[in-house]
This record gives sequence, C-alpha cells and structure tokens, in this order.
Amino acid sequence: MGDRRHFIETASAALGADPGVLDVRLSCLHETEPEGGPEGQGPFLNAAARVETTYDAVSLFDLMQRIEGDLGRERPQPWSPRTIDLDLLLFDDDLIDIPKLTVPHPRMHERKFVLVSLAEIAGDVIHPVMGQTINGLLNSLSC
Ligand code: ADP
Ligand code: MG
Repeated sequence: MGDRRHFIETASAALGADPGVLDVRLSCLHETEPEGGPEGQGPFLNAAARVETTYDAVSLFDLMQRIEGDLGRERPQPWSPRTIDLDLLLFDDDLIDIPKLTVPHPRMHERKFVLVSLAEIAGDVIHPVMGQTINGLLNSLSC
C-alpha cells in the first residue's frame, strides 16, 4: 500500500543504517499481481536484498520486524495489503525452525516473484534444503 518504492528503499536504508549491518545490496524492483489474499488488491512490488551482517539469523530477523513496525506495518489478517513485508529467505546454510522463524523461508522456492528478485543478487547460491542454485530453482519454475 502507499508509495511502495519509497517503503522498500526506506527499509533497505534502515537495514544499512544499523550498526550490525555492514552492507546491503538491493535487486531491481519487480511488480507482480497478488497471489492469494483478499479480492481487489493492487499489484505488489517485490525486491530481494543481500545483507552482510555481524548478527545471527534471529537478531537480523528481529531487526527486520522492528523496521516493519517503524514503517507502519499492521497485521489485520495474513496476506492482506501491507506497507511493507520483510521476509528472511536464506541465512548462509542455516536451518532454523522455531515458532517465529523458519529459514530457509518455507515457500520461497515455489514463488517466482521471490526467485526472480533473488536470482539477480544470489543466482549461484545453493538452497541448503533443495540442493539447487537459485538460478536452477527459477529455471525449473519457468514453464
Ligand atoms: P507473510 O510474509 O506470509 O505475508 P507475515 O509477514 O504476516 O506473512 O508473517 C507471518 C509470520 O511468519 C510472522 O509471524 C513470522 O514470525 C513468521 N515467519 C516464519 N519464518 C519467517 C521468515 N523466514 N521470514 C519472515 N517471517 C517468518
Ligand atoms: Mg512476512
């Protein structure tokens, strides 16, 4: 919702401004039609970011949730329109499954809008569960 490009750029800048974040590299922005969720939503704007950090995965995720909150994210219901949604897709080869955080993100490998953005900045990275590169996962979806 709102100025989507502004929210993505502000979130990226907020990540980069944190002392635990050493570098942020943002993909291009890709507009896609909504998948699921309530009727009548406008298109989504998606991007992926590659973050170099001194944090572990949970601390990075806590920072991401604080940034979502600062940008006015509310959660009236799952999948509803939102100002910003920050998902943690991969964290090195870490495998995490605790109530608030699953890494790799459990649906990333089947979502073209995720893989298209991610391939721009991490195409050769191997998904630690699927055992395929991001480029490979994207190619096997594209038909
Ligand atoms: P969605 O991202 O599916 O649209 P939300 O952003 O509302 O939905 O997140 C739903 C829940 O998913 C959050 O409470 C969060 O704790 C949980 N979650 C689990 N793993 C992850 C992850 N890797 N990235 C982001 N959220 C996650
Ligand atoms: Mg989310």
